[in-house]
Amino acid sequence: MRTTHLTAVLPVALLCAAFTAGCSAKQPYTHDSFTFDTFVSFTIYDTDGNSTAEEICAGAVGMLNKLDDMLSRTKSDSEITRINGNAYSSPVVVDLSTYNMLKSCAELSDLTDGAFDITLGNISDMWGIGKENTAKPDDAELKKLAGKQNYRNIVFDDENYTVSFSKDSFSLDLGAAAKGYAMDMLDTYLRNSGVTSAVVDFGGSILTIGENNGESWNITITADETNSPVGTLKTNEGYIATSNGAKRYVEYDGIKYHHIIDPATAYPADSGIKSCTVFSASGLISDALSTAFFVMGADKAKEFYDKYDIAEYIITLTDGTVIVSDGISADFTAL
Ligand code: AMP
Ligand code: MG
Repeated sequence: MRTTHLTAVLPVALLCAAFTAGCSAKQPYTHDSFTFDTFVSFTIYDTDGNSTAEEICAGAVGMLNKLDDMLSRTKSDSEITRINGNAYSSPVVVDLSTYNMLKSCAELSDLTDGAFDITLGNISDMWGIGKENTAKPDDAELKKLAGKQNYRNIVFDDENYTVSFSKDSFSLDLGAAAKGYAMDMLDTYLRNSGVTSAVVDFGGSILTIGENNGESWNITITADETNSPVGTLKTNEGYIATSNGAKRYVEYDGIKYHHIIDPATAYPADSGIKSCTVFSASGLISDALSTAFFVMGADKAKEFYDKYDIAEYIITLTDGTVIVSDGISADFTAL
């Protein structure tokens, strides 16, 4: 996954990922559902035959719903709400898998120098991201939080699996990583249920399992404003996540503010990126890095790529330039 920062220049607006699969001998089973506040679309091409694809998808959706119940910060009885409400006063015991996920997030925050930071819940609240708000947050109030909501204030106790906060007025927001983590869980669930070939579109994030009728998968990268494809990416199995400034935003006094926050400023990131798609072998990494790269900007994303070599990216700048990391440049065909 090394790069020489190969750049393909395309006159496109925004990127989002969609998949196109080649023809398969068998008719695939498709199933659509709604969870994690988004649409999930399963296409199962092949299984070991022990369970029907219908049963597998129903079980998978049940598993995702349970995860959402744990990780949502808006549901009053979720683990995250429990942590947010109590972790400053006393350590909160959390489910082992949530504990490990939070630790992985903290590590990714560290790797990305805090560009990805799951502790900006209070800033998200002020902007009305994920929760209702009626007025644009006050500049002075935002300044107070800029650079101060920091993942280092989460205290992990590896013996008792507790999480506590060393700081008040501080809360978790897993919006940039929960779907990626859920894709990892979903991948394991589907494979354990006997799925050998499948594609799942999880609100624009894509999970691929196995092969596409003996071939690679073709993921179509589309400009979501016009819905016209800008390129196709050939991939083996893995996870694709996209962070897109125009997809989710809040509007105050007729001005749109997108939902990806630069923790250093407490304002929507303004790095010159319109959309960032990341491909890796982990859903959590793809999701966290798509957000982090969006915040860092293309130059720092490339530095990160050269240093850590854990994920590939397709970045669309605000001027329409598309930058493809070198490790996938041969697999990316501009349209
Ligand atoms: P994504 O679409 O994966 O980039 O995630 C964006 C969501 O994650 C937002 O709606 C916020 O809830 C949260 N978020 C925004 N900015 C950040 C950031 N810099 N680090 C971590 N989470 C963020
Ligand atoms: Mg993300």
